[in-house]
Amino acid sequence: MRKIALYGKGGIGKSTVSSNVSAALSNMGIKVMQVGCDPKRDSIATLCGGLLKPTILDETRDRGVSEEVILSCVHQGYNGILGVESGGPKPGVGCGGRGVLVALQMLEKYNIFDRHGIEWATFDVLGDVVCGGFAQPMRAGYAKEVYIVTCGEILTLHQITNIARAVRTLAEQGIETGVAGLIDNQRGVPHEREIVEEVAELMGVPVIHHIPRSRTVQDSELKGQTVIQAFPASPQADEYRALANKIRNNTETFIPNIVTLKEIKPIVAKYGGGFASPKNGSQAAS
Ligand code: ADP
Ligand code: MG
Repeated sequence: MRKIALYGKGGIGKSTVSSNVSAALSNMGIKVMQVGCDPKRDSIATLCGGLLKPTILDETRDRGVSEEVILSCVHQGYNGILGVESGGPKPGVGCGGRGVLVALQMLEKYNIFDRHGIEWATFDVLGDVVCGGFAQPMRAGYAKEVYIVTCGEILTLHQITNIARAVRTLAEQGIETGVAGLIDNQRGVPHEREIVEEVAELMGVPVIHHIPRSRTVQDSELKGQTVIQAFPASPQADEYRALANKIRNNTETFIPNIVTLKEIKPIVAKYGGGFASPKNGSQAAS
């Protein structure tokens, strides 16, 4: 079974990218499961028909841990895709990252992947806090092939260097993990492509794809679907299919270099400071 993990800060587009890549892979005939590892628990919303699905941590807290309970957290979605949400600890109690790992271990314990004939699992992981907790899925071997979702904004670029640092630290401790590439989910920053490419070069990792900002994403969300399902003939769907193909064909991962904010600043400054003018904002829907 192929396992990939998408990391990035909240709101950057991890779930949108994960869900569209999962949908595109599924259309290639692959049996896919998407696992949301974010206490926000909205990873599979556009794949599996809505928000607030029962999640592993909530259900096992209420009903105890059993095969029946875990199976009730596996949701059927678009084109036979299966979706699971780890959920999170009770707000204010416990560690989100630790909770995510417990949920992942329950999937293993009850053989959920084999039982459903899963060939591909996409883990959609919150990476805001790169504390020991959120590194736990990496440490436990769920993130041997990491894709980091970013955009060309300076604070986002700074934040991804922390994810890269976590990967490097764990790799140095002998954990099998590496960054396969950055996914540039564009915000409309001028020269965004160049900025992200230059930062990636410093990090020593490739940019696997630049995804344009597009209203088609919101139009699909309004229908409660992925772009792949809602607007399969749109240019945006082509972007996600191209990305899915690149990920599918990827065989390499890299141990990223440490990059500092001091190194990122001149790159962003060179291209005008990273300010989006209204003209460079959202592209029209296709
Ligand atoms: P995350 O999972 O990282 O928290 P989401 O995937 O939920 O982020 O994305 C946050 C919001 O950004 C979504 O509601 C979505 O509408 C929007 N979004 C993501 N990618 C794009 C894009 N390429 N174009 C337009 N909007 C996008
Ligand atoms: Mg998300």
